Amino acid sequence: MDLGIAGKLALVTAATKGLGRACAEALAAEGCRVAICARTAEDVKRVAREIASVTDSEVVGFVADMSQAADIDRLVQQVRQKLGEIDILVTNAGGPPPGTYADMTLDQYPKAFELSAMSAIRLVHAVTDAMKVKHWGRIVMITSITVKQPIDTLLLSNMARAGLTGFMKTVATELAPYGVTVNAVLPGLHETHRLRQVAAKKGQTEGISTDDALAAMGKTVPAGRLGQPEQLGAMVAFLASQRAAYVTGTNVLVDGGAYKGLL
Ligand code: NAP
Repeated sequence: MDLGIAGKLALVTAATKGLGRACAEALAAEGCRVAICARTAEDVKRVAREIASVTDSEVVGFVADMSQAADIDRLVQQVRQKLGEIDILVTNAGGPPPGTYADMTLDQYPKAFELSAMSAIRLVHAVTDAMKVKHWGRIVMITSITVKQPIDTLLLSNMARAGLTGFMKTVATELAPYGVTVNAVLPGLHETHRLRQVAAKKGQTEGISTDDALAAMGKTVPAGRLGQPEQLGAMVAFLASQRAAYVTGTNVLVDGGAYKGLL
């Protein structure tokens, strides 16, 4: 299927590893020009080079921390100056720290909201004027299965991503007449750098290897295995495509069946 987005400019944030990188790779493979960012300068340069060499698309890396408002403003400015107006925005950031209500201090809530919700909200504000003028735009937010099925030990993620989902739905309605779609993709358990770190800790506690701990996590999913980042990247590329012009305001799970509810 030709997704019809060759030549479009995509910005994918937090994209040197894991899910963000997979989204950047999928969009570059469709012929998009892609801007990526993360906090580590060497990774940003290296990963931009790697994706460009595999896909033959233009990929440019920028250094930006999604928890810093000034970085987000600067990032959008730099992308605009170097590459032009953004057609496709994929919002992503590192997750907030785990913990239960009993673990939490009050100052952690606004920090988590800033990282996991405000970063996406700031990015959306920065790109939609130009999308409305062009009468074409795609915004895809990477959130989490916790939006539909909160995880007891991820209070901050449950809280911040639910708020972002309310924003996503409302903005999708307002931007629909302008040819701009806004959707969210909800990962379940995907084998990424972050999940490997979680598995390494679990492995230490249980006296098993990281790979065995990862496999045990995969067994908890109806599909019997963890998701690969590119499986989420493919869904994001579709939602960013011309083909998905009539899909907006939707939360799409990519979770191997982990979500237990009906809707
Ligand atoms: P990952 O493999 O650890 O990759 C994280 C990427 O984001 C790296 O490129 C990292 O580079 C960058 N990053 C982290 N914090 C950043 C910040 N403040 N500003 C800019 N870039 C930042 O993580 P992942 O598993 O792909 O997770 C991505 C998001 O999906 C997270 O919010 C996570 O909570 C969520 N999620 C993941 C899963 C899963 O199964 N993997 C499930 C549900 C939700 P630098 O460190 O160099 O900045």
